[in-house]
Amino acid sequence: MSVRVSRRAVLAGVAPLLALAAASAPGRDGGAFQGAADRTGAGFQGAADRTGAGLQNAPDRGDAARQSARTAAAGPPGTDVAAEPWPGETRTVRGARSLVLGHRAAPALLRDLARRADAAGARVSAVLRTPVRPLVLVPDSSAEAARLARVAGVEGLAALADGGRVIVVPETFGRLTDVGRDVVLAHELTHVAAGTGGLPPWLYEGFADYVAYRDAGLAVPVAAAELAAEVRAGRTPRRLPGAADFAPGSSRLAAVYQEAWLACRFIAEWRGEQTLVRLYRDARTRGAARALAAAGLPTARLTAGWRAYVREKLA
Ligand SMILES: [Zn+2]
Repeated sequence: MSVRVSRRAVLAGVAPLLALAAASAPGRDGGAFQGAADRTGAGFQGAADRTGAGLQNAPDRGDAARQSARTAAAGPPGTDVAAEPWPGETRTVRGARSLVLGHRAAPALLRDLARRADAAGARVSAVLRTPVRPLVLVPDSSAEAARLARVAGVEGLAALADGGRVIVVPETFGRLTDVGRDVVLAHELTHVAAGTGGLPPWLYEGFADYVAYRDAGLAVPVAAAELAAEVRAGRTPRRLPGAADFAPGSSRLAAVYQEAWLACRFIAEWRGEQTLVRLYRDARTRGAARALAAAGLPTARLTAGWRAYVREKLA
């Protein structure tokens, strides 16, 4: 499976997804969480090029590991990735359509994740109109999640897409609300199922959030609280966010993700959801600019419509 995936969990609009973080995690309040989140987006994208195939070709993996990976990967078809990262210590739970592998994770947590992954997979499948069989890995710590994904750190992330699988960051994931957990899983599964290679970040992050929030039951001004505050203060965005806007350290990262989300939501409401899906696939093949033009949505027209939509939804 040749996909490029972003490493973002749900960094933006995360406030409504967090449980009472201050109460459950002293010293790590929402502000700290957001601050941590700012360092993740593009930093992880830099490391986002490793695909499942790349993982399997890693030189430090022996034949036995590859064999066990192939065996375990027989679960969800199409996810040809190393699926047993903890040989001899992997706890496996199968959902109706998902496979959840945990390391020292409580069985109840794995069963809960299997149920959620089934539901998230169904959501993604309903939009993409293609079978989605989630493979979810649950390491025993954020440090192990980082090692598994071969990234420097996962602070501020609740989960990340890695090749054909979703890796849960247990500490952060555990701090999300029920809705937040479902949104995070659906967002990352969308990256896995739809791929991100060759696309501008506004399109693949916006598309993942479009799918993730589609049935989440959150009002737009709630899920896009940061952008709403800007719009109410008279600052409507003027252009679709560029790659630099998704860079770590951006003070507007949350609002930027919300801009991307609303751009895709606007296309779906204006032209229909399947137009958005076709546009996404077309953009994967021949680039976003050509795909948008072919869909009758040249950048200037899309931008004008999206700005009006943002004002309508958030002002
Ligand atoms: Zn993402």
